[in-house]
Amino acid sequence: MKIVIGYLYPSVMSQYGDLGNVITIVRRCHWRGIGAEVRELEIGEPVDPGHIDLFLVGGGADTHQRLVCEDLLTVKGDGIRRAIDAGAAAFAVCAGYQLWGHYYRTATGEDLAGLGVFDAHTIHRAAQTGTRLDTIARAGSVRAVGNLVVKWGDQILVGFENHGGRTYLHPGARPLGKILAGRGNNSEDGWEGCTYKNAIGTYLHGPALPKNPRLADHLIRTALRRHHGDVRLAPLDDTQENAAHDRAAERSLARPSRGKRLWGQGVG
Ligand code: GLN
Repeated sequence: MKIVIGYLYPSVMSQYGDLGNVITIVRRCHWRGIGAEVRELEIGEPVDPGHIDLFLVGGGADTHQRLVCEDLLTVKGDGIRRAIDAGAAAFAVCAGYQLWGHYYRTATGEDLAGLGVFDAHTIHRAAQTGTRLDTIARAGSVRAVGNLVVKWGDQILVGFENHGGRTYLHPGARPLGKILAGRGNNSEDGWEGCTYKNAIGTYLHGPALPKNPRLADHLIRTALRRHHGDVRLAPLDDTQENAAHDRAAERSLARPSRGKRLWGQGVG
């Protein structure tokens, strides 16, 4: 039994340690005797929809998104969409999440067309407000930065966020979960992330998966399902993972983040 991981743009899109998501999936498979092959898919490399069970893509600055968006649409787009429609899993973080929506409007107001896997679009706050990012203070004033805690079914997901983009889900699109701390999609509607079939988009950086072992296992099970049916994963000793998770949740929920303070009063 094995899964094939399609790691999109490792040399361009891996901000805030998102490589840790790939390592986590590989380790949690290997500890159970499940094979995990990582296919690094850089610019120019097409996607064979029948071969990838799990797509992983990380974050990046607007510059990085500009670099990959053409390739994502014209070289990989069809393969990714067909794989997702055939049940492949995906975990797309921040800039990756934004480019899997319909479009991302950058801080300078340029629209980068997206894959449209997620029925959502994203606009950088600076483009919404006309804020010029010519000082650190102004650049910081439009970013959602801090701890992020999300209620996902009966689970709590922890991580941090750092993004200028505000993502808006279209009617009928499903969010990943409800925000308990942080800003999430757009600091307005209280939701975080988006899901479509077995694809998950999120603003959870960290990397997210080491501190959220349930989510990692969910992705492994989903990735296995296409070729191996429903597989029961052997339990692992997650003492350290759970301790890190619980500590992060405790800290984030104990001190309401700036976002949560804003929440109570509605969004500025
Ligand atoms: N460039 C995007 C934004 O600012 C994504 C940032 C990221 O991936 N951390 O919203």
